Amino acid sequence: MEIYDHPTFRMACRQFDLVADHLQIPESERDRLKFPKRSMTVALPIHCDNGSTKVFMGYRVQHHLTLGPTKGGLRYHPDVTLGEVAALAMWMSWKCALTGLPYGGAKGGIACDPTKMSRNELERLTRRYTQEMIPFIGPQVDVMAPDLGTNEQVMAWMMDTYSVHVGATVPSIVTGKPVGLGGSLGRREATGRGVGYLVNRASDSIGLDMSKATAVVQGFGNVGSIAALSLARYGVKVIAVSDVQGAIYNSGGLELWDLEKHVAKNKTVAGFSESEPLTNHQLLVLPCDILVPAALERQITEANAGKIQCRILAEAANGPTTPEADLILNQRPEIFVIPDVLCNAGGVIVSYFEWVQDLQSFFWGETEVVDKLFRILETAYTQVVSLSRKQKLPLRLAALSLGIKRVQEAKRIRGLFP
Ligand code: NAD
Repeated sequence: MEIYDHPTFRMACRQFDLVADHLQIPESERDRLKFPKRSMTVALPIHCDNGSTKVFMGYRVQHHLTLGPTKGGLRYHPDVTLGEVAALAMWMSWKCALTGLPYGGAKGGIACDPTKMSRNELERLTRRYTQEMIPFIGPQVDVMAPDLGTNEQVMAWMMDTYSVHVGATVPSIVTGKPVGLGGSLGRREATGRGVGYLVNRASDSIGLDMSKATAVVQGFGNVGSIAALSLARYGVKVIAVSDVQGAIYNSGGLELWDLEKHVAKNKTVAGFSESEPLTNHQLLVLPCDILVPAALERQITEANAGKIQCRILAEAANGPTTPEADLILNQRPEIFVIPDVLCNAGGVIVSYFEWVQDLQSFFWGETEVVDKLFRILETAYTQVVSLSRKQKLPLRLAALSLGIKRVQEAKRIRGLFP
């Protein structure tokens, strides 16, 4: 499928092909499982603050609709392409199936740099994108959520634009909204909190004492910052973090609360006092117990996979490890990889809770949300680890096998129309 050609899409396809071989999925079923059901590309003209008009490209890919509506984030980043979005949509499908959510995967994005746009420009861009997507989305069709470069405010504008179009308030059109608009308690923290929970489970599995462990986190946005705080609550010392502008290190542990204040003021971790700067490349190969990539895809590659020095690789980002790097990591049994489709599933699980609450107009307390989140993660973790042990599979292959097999079975039972 040439329209999707992109290194990240090729990577997602290669992972799929490995699993399809492992599960012995017949050739006749492979393309149907692999390729997205629908994809949309839209041109988005907006008025800029300086009076000019600029056109941005927007995308949405819905991977499969076999198990329910599609679900997935919306990304604002200069490098967004249709192929990248298609890969992320595919991974969402396997993640939702692995955790037993009644969704197919989707992903969207706009090629833009939100850090260089005003709030008004971002609002106009978001509303125009939502307007263009209206024929293809809906609470029972496709539900968006925040991802890289988007946040609760972006979701609020989307919800408002859709609701104005329909003529009634429709909170269930997006998740990750502000709590005051029908968002769920615990959604903002869900992905990072889930990462903390799973690292704790992995530590149990390999006999690592969290209270004596160190962690390095790449990316200090929604997921990375909450993952760092969550690990700190388990007693872990976070010794280095980074963002797009730079990385910082303190062998004695970073003061995360002070760092949060520094980031709120300066919009970057760079320049934080009581830390020394280092490059993102150095950060990934620092000796530590827990390495958490929480930024972009394809960060652990064949160039650095042999050099990373951690005991747990917790993939908070989507697709941070390339298949070439996987081959190297598979030869390093001392590293326990929590694969992305499991590691960052907390976000979509609580998005699912938010959607359910919105549909029922009946809202839960945070304790209930967190309790239900951990139960689903526990079940998925146990299934992945036991399959991996039983069949001697790398954890990624085990996790993807569980997800892909469930989608395959659902497609088989429903049959092929006409
Ligand atoms: P975010 O925009 O809030 O934060 C991203 C962070 O990564 C920022 O600190 C940014 O500066 C940093 N970053 C960007 N490019 C970088 C680079 N080249 N090197 C180092 N740091 C860089 O986004 P987020 O919501 O935290 O998402 C992060 C990752 O987690 C993405 O892969 C996303 O798909 C994945 N994810 C997010 C959620 C969610 O609920 N938000 C759920 C599942 C997975």
